[in-house]
Amino acid sequence: VKKRLDKNIVEEVYGVSEILRPPAVPAAVDSELSFAEFREKVLACAKCPLAAGRTNVVFGEGNENADLMFVGEGPGQDEDEQGRPFVGRAGKLLTQMIEAMKYSRSDVYIANIVKCRPPGNRAPFREEAECCIPYLFKQIKFISPKIIVCLGSVATQYLLNTTASISKIRGEFVDMNGILVMPTYHPAYLLRSPTMKKFAWADLQKVMEFFGKK
Ligand code: SF4
Repeated sequence: VKKRLDKNIVEEVYGVSEILRPPAVPAAVDSELSFAEFREKVLACAKCPLAAGRTNVVFGEGNENADLMFVGEGPGQDEDEQGRPFVGRAGKLLTQMIEAMKYSRSDVYIANIVKCRPPGNRAPFREEAECCIPYLFKQIKFISPKIIVCLGSVATQYLLNTTASISKIRGEFVDMNGILVMPTYHPAYLLRSPTMKKFAWADLQKVMEFFGKK
């Protein structure tokens, strides 16, 4: 009798279809994970074919309460070997860029669209990026930065779901659900095209201005 009574109340108040829908178990489990537990889960991920060729999952690193985040495309060889983001030549330049902004790497958080190295440093395929990007969004949710500097066209296209070229979209903030995204050139591109550094610097200065660092 009690069961029937409860069901009637449920039907009346919520509509039975809502209440009978089973909860999404993975989401419920995820929502209870700490950042460290979430990281452990990602380190064991084999959801997409990139898992097969990796040495290490490159989860990301930095200040978990950072106001400023940097997002790149994916790990290269050095990053794959060390399990850390942006540690090769491009990483050295990114570190210099961060320091020129009057921050250190430990002040900010650095992550990528995909956490495992695509073979031969190719860009991640759409299905790989779509498989991995929920992890990035979860990192963003945990960290809750005010600004994300998005490095290069591939990262920008996936993060902002746009096909705009980086040269068109860079230099202006894009509002992503309350977080400002500043697309700019990838440091690897700046190493190949040093004359473009002045444009990236202008973009980063806008970020500094937002934080009162100028
Ligand atoms: S790239 Fe992302 S989704 Fe693919 S195996 Fe690595 S962590 Fe998992």
